[in-house]
Amino acid sequence: MGHRAGGIPALAVRELFKDIILGRDATEVERLWDLMYREALLHGRRGAVLRALSAVDIALWDLLSRSAGLPLFRYLGAFRPDWVPAYASGGYYAEGKGLKELAAECEGYLALGFRAVKIKVGRLSPAEDARRLEAVRRAVGEEVEIFLDANNAWADATDAVAAVRHFEPYYPGWIEEPLLPDDVEGHAAVARATRVPVATGEIEGTRWGFKALLEREAAVLQPDAAVCGGITEFRRIGALAAGYGVSVAPHWFHQLHAHLVAATPNGRWVEYFHGYGVFNFGRLLANPEVELKDGGLVLLEAPGHGLELDEGAVRRWALDGWA
Ligand SMILES: [Mg+2]
Repeated sequence: MGHRAGGIPALAVRELFKDIILGRDATEVERLWDLMYREALLHGRRGAVLRALSAVDIALWDLLSRSAGLPLFRYLGAFRPDWVPAYASGGYYAEGKGLKELAAECEGYLALGFRAVKIKVGRLSPAEDARRLEAVRRAVGEEVEIFLDANNAWADATDAVAAVRHFEPYYPGWIEEPLLPDDVEGHAAVARATRVPVATGEIEGTRWGFKALLEREAAVLQPDAAVCGGITEFRRIGALAAGYGVSVAPHWFHQLHAHLVAATPNGRWVEYFHGYGVFNFGRLLANPEVELKDGGLVLLEAPGHGLELDEGAVRRWALDGWA
């Protein structure tokens, strides 16, 4: 992903969605979602085009909640009105980062108050990754949740299960994206074969995509509102999952997803990234700070999603002059 990674969604907003949105009433957000999705049918119902639709949809809900003078999580209907549980996402592979450094990173998250952390697996052999997990388990103790993220590392369910067996003694909270996202049967096979819950969905889209995972009891769901079809579709996915007794733990973008987890009864975790090493959207914001409390995030009471763009940063990083 280069700095121009937003180019295709920007083009899709301009070419496909602009004329649908301009001059329309934002209170008709469900209708606008339908019109945009139909316009996108021939151009890509997933991926960059759905990301573009998601961005417009998020902007509409922001506009509506700002117009009402309410923070987004209250406008949507708050379930958790003060605070949302979060886990510290990190544990990336890096040159010169050994077991000691990895353990120290996770201890740092505990010092910030977190009671759940996530680390990467899948790039090394299962035995080497198990040593990373063991080091973290030793550092954080028995009570702290450790999630594992494989980022589509394994070729098939057989390989994935073989790897996860190495991790089972350290009772991780889930194994995330063991396989390519379209391999629903493979995820279901991994889920059946191991005690470790499977999680996936960060690059899945729409209620229909997530329904396939739910029907096969394949995974805990990790929809990303900026990917799956916006806030409109995120809420549908959350409600659908609730009917199956499954939690959602959204991927990425903690400031936005804090609102959505707060407004979703089966919303379980916000994925929080500390600093700008991995998630750097905060560099575009005038108010990037997040208040941490008791291993979670304090909700902003400002209207809308509460995020204010830093106009200077936006000018600096904008793909073109279109606004
Ligand atoms: Mg992930």
